[in-house]
Amino acid sequence: MSHRVSSMGFQAQMLKKFPGIIKYADKESSILRRLKKAVDYAYKSKFYARKLKKAGVKGADIKSIRDFKEKVPQTTRSELVEVDPYDILAVSPGSKCLIYSQTSGTTGGHVPVWVTKDELEKNIDLAVCLPVFQKLLSPKDKVALCYPYTRTLAGRTADLINQKAGVTIIPMGTRNNMYPPLEVADALIRLKPTILGAAATDAFSYANILMDQGIDPKKIGIKLIVSGAEPCADNRGKVLGELYGATFLSLLGQNEIGGAIPCEKNILHLPSFVMFTELYHDDGTEAGFGERANSIVTPTWREAMPLLRYRTGDVVKINKEPCECGLPLPTMEILGRKRTEISIGSKKFFPIELENFLYQSNLNGVWYQIKLAEDSVMISAEHRDKADYPRLANEIKTNLEKELNKKVEVKLGPPGTLYDYRKIRPGKPLSRVVDVKKGKSEVVEGA
Ligand SMILES: [Zn+2]
Repeated sequence: MSHRVSSMGFQAQMLKKFPGIIKYADKESSILRRLKKAVDYAYKSKFYARKLKKAGVKGADIKSIRDFKEKVPQTTRSELVEVDPYDILAVSPGSKCLIYSQTSGTTGGHVPVWVTKDELEKNIDLAVCLPVFQKLLSPKDKVALCYPYTRTLAGRTADLINQKAGVTIIPMGTRNNMYPPLEVADALIRLKPTILGAAATDAFSYANILMDQGIDPKKIGIKLIVSGAEPCADNRGKVLGELYGATFLSLLGQNEIGGAIPCEKNILHLPSFVMFTELYHDDGTEAGFGERANSIVTPTWREAMPLLRYRTGDVVKINKEPCECGLPLPTMEILGRKRTEISIGSKKFFPIELENFLYQSNLNGVWYQIKLAEDSVMISAEHRDKADYPRLANEIKTNLEKELNKKVEVKLGPPGTLYDYRKIRPGKPLSRVVDVKKGKSEVVEGA
């Protein structure tokens, strides 16, 4: 079967380039060896030298995975927000080329993220071995890259992967005044890229700008949309793909811990050969595969910025069942930030799950907003074709009332009603999910 071939090819390439890294990745002895090394290496940073000395733990003290969990203190997001960004470095500036980035800070303060040029290049080497990039990127492709180049590593990483793949790169690092959305749409028309790398929201914006000009986005010839930098529900991705007549693929990870590995089935895989993950329930007990769980991660292959037992704040689901793509790695769903979880009646949802319910309908606008009141849910969404409104409103109402078991009101309007997609997007223009029942507004994550 073809997916087997791709997986074998991947393993062979990985073994050649990174001997030993993947072959024994899930053996306990291999995990233990990597964890010991990670603890000793972390001493190179002032932050961890202080923390580990205080806890009185060294690599040699870790004789089992249990030891690691019991002896090594956890690292929280707020510790990293407060630390002097230079204190988290294990490599002193001047001894190696270093690149700084930081997380968006939507969840309170920026977490510094450092990489050395060497480790970034190694990660790029690893990425281009992946079947997903081997299959989807051909030198003949023209790739429009619309990720921001600054603050996060998204744009820079995408650029380097594409350079390695030898494609034609059309950098449009949006969200600055060199490439406002209208300028991007114009470049899409002139340059006819085959691949569009953009946050889903931006890709919806460009499609609407094209349609404003009477151009069907399908006419551009984009065959693949690679969305990153914002979570995108499967159904929303599917709708976006249909709008362009393209396949949709979502790349998502956390800046500070490194990305998950995507596959061509639009599934994320856990890079277990460079990442030790602990799963636990809200009450602190250990969680297993297939369960909704909080995650604590220890990346074991870091040069610039070591991290030990980092509480990601994410709720994830990790599955051991093999993926159709054949990659020999567990699959991972990132459900959302713990603090964005919302209760509706007796059930709990993440914003991304509500988005998934909503996009069972074919909405082609840019933005939506879901307001949760005590006894009802109000939905505002954008869609171009007024003739579809009665059918869509009814469909959305039926679908969401079934899922949420609450009265649902739907209001549809033309694109631009909720957010002016022709303007440079400063970040998240407005919240997608608002919990008015608690009298507070900000709930949803976003780019
Ligand atoms: Zn897969």
